Amino acid sequence: MNNDFLDFRSDTVTRPTAGMLDAMLHAKVGDDVFGEDETVSALEKKLAKMFNMEAGLFCPSGTMTNQIAIKCFTQPMDEVICDQASHVYRYEGGGIAYHSGASVRLLHGERGILTPQLIEPEINEYNIHYPNSSLVVLENTVNKGGGSCYHLAQIEPIHQLCKAKGLKLHLDGARIFNALQATGDEATSYGNHFDGISVCLSKGLGAPVGSVLLSDKETIKKATKIRKAFGGGMRQAGFLAAAGIYALDHHIKRLKDDHNHAAALADALSKAHYVKSVMPVETNIVIFEVEADQANQIVNQFKAKGLLCGTTSAKTIRLVTHLDLSADMIDRAIEIILHLQG
Ligand SMILES: *Cc1c(COP(=O)(O)O)cnc(C)c1O
Repeated sequence: MNNDFLDFRSDTVTRPTAGMLDAMLHAKVGDDVFGEDETVSALEKKLAKMFNMEAGLFCPSGTMTNQIAIKCFTQPMDEVICDQASHVYRYEGGGIAYHSGASVRLLHGERGILTPQLIEPEINEYNIHYPNSSLVVLENTVNKGGGSCYHLAQIEPIHQLCKAKGLKLHLDGARIFNALQATGDEATSYGNHFDGISVCLSKGLGAPVGSVLLSDKETIKKATKIRKAFGGGMRQAGFLAAAGIYALDHHIKRLKDDHNHAAALADALSKAHYVKSVMPVETNIVIFEVEADQANQIVNQFKAKGLLCGTTSAKTIRLVTHLDLSADMIDRAIEIILHLQG
């Protein structure tokens, strides 16, 4: 995409910085399928330690880490409980059915946020007619919820419920560092609450590729075999892992800038005449509503002014802030937002 555009389509559009490329260039690598890439191992250990989990597994995508986790935590004929807006259900190509042979029980949380009160009645007791409820998946932050996030205090009773009922609990943490930034919760406390955590390096953190699945040693051993069967075993992947390590060292603190930028955009949008409502902004995602069926037209008008964004429905538009959008670029975007004809 042309660099002159202000690209708000996703936080996945970032390109590696000079420092990150330098770290990649100097990475010590080996064949990771043989377990010999020390940079991959270092990344997996670093993240496992951060989240107080036993082990990690570097994968090419967040879809793969989520799907491997679901496969590890279910048997065919089981049921996965998640919000209707969740990425694992909507945006992973039907992978739950394809890879794991499991059915899905969809809940309707407020902006994708689940509670024990919503989950408990949907857990099946044993009965030969029922699918076996074996896994709950939470997303933090919730993409379709406009970057809404859980505080750990909201996760704790869900963790207790899952433990009492014998269900596993997985976190799709594609934007977990945004959630940690917004809530002030500690990453280390997360390990005690989940059986599996998927952490993405290529969204807000700005690495070109990769997610890491965190869990206990036994699950990661199983996950490593499933990754192989999925075709996700990578050889000298240390070049990519080095970008992830660099991102963890340099790009976490700055996420608060993305959140401030998102808040400033939301403020401008709330003043624009063509905007009906703006979802509350908690992190780096802004979703706003326009008149019925107008979303595509507004997106095209933005594009003509040099601002790229996408629709999330016929009447909703999404903007995502990230490290390739400077304060100056946000100011330019605000000018475009305020002066659009609509
Ligand atoms: C982006 C994303 C993923 C994983 O996406 P990949 O493109 O496969 O890395 C998973 N969950 C959520 C909530 C996401 O936004």
